[in-house]
Amino acid sequence: MTAPIGQPRSKAAARTSLLFLGGTDTVGGVHILVRGRAGRLLLDIGIVGNPGIVRDRTLFNAFQPPRPGSMLPDYLRAGMAPLVESLYERGDLAPFVTVSDATRALRAPGFALDGYPLVDDEPGTDLAVFVSHLHDDHMALLEFVARNVPVIMSDAGARLHGALVAAGALPAVHAAVTGVVPGVARSVGDLVLHVILVDHDIPGAAGVLVETPDGTMAYTGDWRRHGRHPEAMQAFADACAGVDVLITDASGAQPPDARTVQCAQVAEREIASLLSDLATSAHRGLYCSFDERNLERHADVQVVAKAHGRLLVASPRTVAIWHAAASAGLPCPRIEDIAVWDDSEGMRDDPQPPTQPPIAPQTAPPPTVRRVRAADVAADPAAFLCELRSSERARLLDIGAGPGDVYAYLDGYPYGPADPGWPVLVTWMRQLGIRLETISSRGHAWEDDLRWLVDAVRPGMVIPVHTNHPDHFPGVTTPVRPVRRGDEIALSPGARTLSGDLR
Ligand SMILES: [Zn+2]
Repeated sequence: MTAPIGQPRSKAAARTSLLFLGGTDTVGGVHILVRGRAGRLLLDIGIVGNPGIVRDRTLFNAFQPPRPGSMLPDYLRAGMAPLVESLYERGDLAPFVTVSDATRALRAPGFALDGYPLVDDEPGTDLAVFVSHLHDDHMALLEFVARNVPVIMSDAGARLHGALVAAGALPAVHAAVTGVVPGVARSVGDLVLHVILVDHDIPGAAGVLVETPDGTMAYTGDWRRHGRHPEAMQAFADACAGVDVLITDASGAQPPDARTVQCAQVAEREIASLLSDLATSAHRGLYCSFDERNLERHADVQVVAKAHGRLLVASPRTVAIWHAAASAGLPCPRIEDIAVWDDSEGMRDDPQPPTQPPIAPQTAPPPTVRRVRAADVAADPAAFLCELRSSERARLLDIGAGPGDVYAYLDGYPYGPADPGWPVLVTWMRQLGIRLETISSRGHAWEDDLRWLVDAVRPGMVIPVHTNHPDHFPGVTTPVRPVRRGDEIALSPGARTLSGDLR
């Protein structure tokens, strides 16, 4: 049997370390355990389930979801959830009692989990989880976290989480979720955390700076500088300047011969004007789709619709999210200014990544929101800007959409041309004669910005994670240390001078 890495350590001898449990060579699924003498902090708890981003690497995805009564054991045995004892709610492990039990057979030499670190319980240390932001590849396992394990997010992140749960777009959780406002430190045993907002394509995205008795480390979460909040990245760099270890989202790292399989990218601030141009050119119907959690972009879409005299019609699930988000004080379209598809037309809920539940019945849109039917749009297509989730595409047939109509892909599902769902979208548009336009601004730093961050922080060492290409981080003067699952790096104030030799 594989020996656990997380054997109880001699507390006097142990130095604070960083144990890499996932996301070292995949975009998403970052699981990093900061192991102090008296505190442990797991950085992010998502799953990689998106075959459009990570091909041929994971057992479960939207096409092959885990079994409803066995989700956690399925994810653990598929190697998609970190093998950390005492992290999970006991009932969710059933019929098993421990992570070790659930995964024993597959940890045998030569089997799927051979070499995966199994972290034992470490009595006397506090365990907490930091969630950088609410994309599934960073938080989809949150529903399984044990009730006695605190979960820490940014204040805005926690408010968005509450809104998504209230809207039925995320499952309820056992654990207590605490939002931390900027400037307030939190302690987990001997670890001191500072949650720092970053620029990403979802409200509340944050990184974290962790001070330990053995040095400092920072983790960016997902970030970019071409979003609405580039100043947040300067503030992050200032707060983390000189940190011993910087762990960064390196989605943008590419081998020199990489073939681009994503939509052309623009800065977030260009999206409204590009969509406005489309609205000007569309003389009939204008349809769109977007990620359901990118609230700030939704607000742009609503502003463009209004400026062009079109009523924004969204799905019941989207409207339920806006209603809950507005109650939580988050920026999103005003419920008073939009309409909702009449769901009596028999649409099923969207096939989302596997852990996203269908909308709960009690979270139907408020009755005051205007209902719109396909027949209303068919009567005057130029009067509306219609959100169409993939599950709602058949409304195009009800409307009689075709030549002269425009579909604006604004990110979200399908996740770009590499996603198996992309050819389905393209086929619909081609067969119906609808013009497909893409306006895309993803949430990840471009290569030059990765260099900028390292230059601005000047850490002792950079560790790229959240990348399919950990060995292709752009050239920087700071030592770059790609890691593999199971690597454990001791934190040390000497990281700056010891550079590549810290293990
Ligand atoms: Zn991510």
